Amino acid sequence: MTIQEQLSQLPSVDECLKSAYGEKWLSSYARKTVLRAIREVIESKRKEILSGANADVTIDAISRDIETAIKKHSAYKLRPIINATGIVIHTNLGRSILSDKAIEHITTTARSFSNLEYEISTGKRGKRYSNIKDIIRELTGAEDAVVVNNNAAAVLICLDTFAKGKEVIVSRGELVEIGGSFRIPEVMKASGAILREVGTTNKTHLADYENALCGNTALLLKVHQSNYKVIGFTEEVPIEKLLKIGREYKIPVVDDLGSGCMINLEKYGVHGEPTVQEVVKTGADIVTFSGDKLLGGPQAGIIIGKEKLIQKIQKNPLLRAMRIDKMTLASLEATFMQYLDEEKAMKEIPTLRMMTEPVEIIKKRAKKIFTSLKDIAGKAEIAVVPDESQAGGGSLPEINFPTFAVSIKPSGISVNELEKRLRLGDPPVIARIKGNALLIDARTIQDKEIKSLAGCVTSAFNN
Ligand SMILES: *Cc1c(COP(=O)(O)O)cnc(C)c1O
Repeated sequence: MTIQEQLSQLPSVDECLKSAYGEKWLSSYARKTVLRAIREVIESKRKEILSGANADVTIDAISRDIETAIKKHSAYKLRPIINATGIVIHTNLGRSILSDKAIEHITTTARSFSNLEYEISTGKRGKRYSNIKDIIRELTGAEDAVVVNNNAAAVLICLDTFAKGKEVIVSRGELVEIGGSFRIPEVMKASGAILREVGTTNKTHLADYENALCGNTALLLKVHQSNYKVIGFTEEVPIEKLLKIGREYKIPVVDDLGSGCMINLEKYGVHGEPTVQEVVKTGADIVTFSGDKLLGGPQAGIIIGKEKLIQKIQKNPLLRAMRIDKMTLASLEATFMQYLDEEKAMKEIPTLRMMTEPVEIIKKRAKKIFTSLKDIAGKAEIAVVPDESQAGGGSLPEINFPTFAVSIKPSGISVNELEKRLRLGDPPVIARIKGNALLIDARTIQDKEIKSLAGCVTSAFNN
């Protein structure tokens, strides 16, 4: 066939649309998407023909390409991936997976009108925060609570409410950066508060704070070091001592806890991580923490503490710009409610479960994954190996949790190629490379994902 003859075989957009295929596509996909896919495929076929390829370009022949293009263009960009990194709170991978209860509460709330800002008992306008306040108070022991979009916003609104144009004293050992976009000195600048750094990187004494106090001091801020640890010759001032001078000079003390752990994790080998309840008990004026780190809920910033101060935050007009939406509120409420039964919370909140799962159970899962990979036995050396995983999300940086992983040493392709193929697969599998092996950490794999994971690994070896 000549090029001209081939080109004349190429259907028009209209012919494609009016064909039986077109009718089928239009019934399930957006017209815009179908049109875009048809145009793309016709154009690429035209180029193929012009470049001399002898292509079959009848509608029957190109319908599969069109369908693939339609599917590609109508797929969501935000999609599930399999986290084989072993990092439980992975900020890039969406931090905490929500519990079933949290997801259920989101769907029921989103499907109907709700009393988001409506007081059913009086029939009057209510406050967005009142539905969640009581459960947070009950669990933490705090006088009052308000929630915003994330912990960065929580810190920002505290600074804006109490310290605009005034000084905030922070230890040099606590001027942290969390994931690049949140740095205490920069948040301080953005809020209009003046950072008054005291002490040194490794040691800050009570006297450093006392000496920095002046008529313009508005807050004493304590920041959890979160993602790093200063070890060796160190000293930090405990919240109790800060509170003492805070009381003496009538200056509120804010403790940015970062992760906000609600359950004592000592028996899981996590030492020195203060619980929210312990910090509230010290009498801290304001405590802030994240919703999606160790708490295991949605992205949110929880601000708890003295009623008078929380009420002042609620009057700050900036709160409106950080206000939490109803779906987040629903999942946060459900997550907090789960903490009423600690034992169940440990099992039902995925972040807590993954963090504290006994290593024998992780090993069992690793063996299951291993067994599911028998199809690639001839193409790689596979083994279940002990390793270590991390909490992530700027939590518990110094703790490595013993884990089990499936190690895959490919023989036909490089380990980097295998990593790439898995990452580009569907669903993408994100794993880590150690030496010449790819490690699939069983800690962060959900049982229901094993089959799909095996499919991904198998097809990575077959393509
Ligand atoms: C994580 C963290 C933040 C920021 O919290 P987001 O919820 O991610 O906004 C602030 N302070 C500390 C100490 C943290 O660990």
